[in-house]
Amino acid sequence: MVRGRFAPSPSGRMHLGNLFCALLSFLSVKSRGGDWILRIEDLDTARCRPDYARQVEEDLRWLGLAWDQGGSAGGPDAPYFQSRRTAFYEEALGRLREMGLVYPCFCTRAQLHTASAPHREDGLTVYPGTCRGFSPEDIAAREAAGRKGALRLRVPEKSITFTDGHLGEVTEYLPTDCGDFLLRRSDGLFAYQLAVVVDDAAMGVTEVVRGADLLTSTPRQLLLYELLGLPAPEFFHFPLLLSPDGRRLSKRDGDLGLAALREKDSPEEVIGKLAYLAGQNPTAAPRTPGELIEHFRWDTVPRQDIPLPPGLF
Ligand code: GLU
Repeated sequence: MVRGRFAPSPSGRMHLGNLFCALLSFLSVKSRGGDWILRIEDLDTARCRPDYARQVEEDLRWLGLAWDQGGSAGGPDAPYFQSRRTAFYEEALGRLREMGLVYPCFCTRAQLHTASAPHREDGLTVYPGTCRGFSPEDIAAREAAGRKGALRLRVPEKSITFTDGHLGEVTEYLPTDCGDFLLRRSDGLFAYQLAVVVDDAAMGVTEVVRGADLLTSTPRQLLLYELLGLPAPEFFHFPLLLSPDGRRLSKRDGDLGLAALREKDSPEEVIGKLAYLAGQNPTAAPRTPGELIEHFRWDTVPRQDIPLPPGLF
């Protein structure tokens, strides 16, 4: 069974970048005859809100992107809201603990900021391993003093190489390119990296389609698949849409948010323009998602970030 998913974080109204992801993940899996799942990644309860999640569903319906299972409609792998799936993350964390691969980190944000050398363009910093060698007594003393540690994964000394279905081969040497990464924050919230792996595996996801900003998360996720003995999906990362002045779109770009778009354009106009930018429509003429499925091809999707042509939206 081929299965893809759209996994938005409901921390605001969706913008064009989120729609681009929804459309590409939908077309990719539908062109292979698979199912498309909607998973709401609302782990960060301080930033995510149920009304934004409802709005995601409403906006997808408006666009004509119908999911096969997930969201509030449920389905065989329910729940599809990460905030209700912590028992699964606990279980996976427990298995990693049993392997001796998890340790508490008591570093403050300020310490992390000064100790880690800024590393990659994506802003990822490599944890220098400050708390890696603490003895049980060191840990007990800190906990007795009321410090609550975050939990990190002890990464092995090896490289992870994978072939992205769109962007080609990627290699990372874990100790220096990635470092020991967070599994759970000190406030108890599970980290995206762990949750996404547990959920994609539990939901039988066979292909992950998402923006290239998450390309560098993939080696961490592949390591978790391997350690947890779970089958890894295929990955396809696509370039990001940029505002006409070259910035990454964010939920603050109100004029490119769904509320503003829905005032100006019909669903077919929005889909047609996005499909044009994705190399799936020869012009920006209106299209329905269904019309695009049959002709979908990854090799015509651009490989460089895509500045929005002024006036297109
Ligand atoms: N929830 C993530 C986001 O909205 C996407 C995670 C993923 O596709 O792996 O950026």
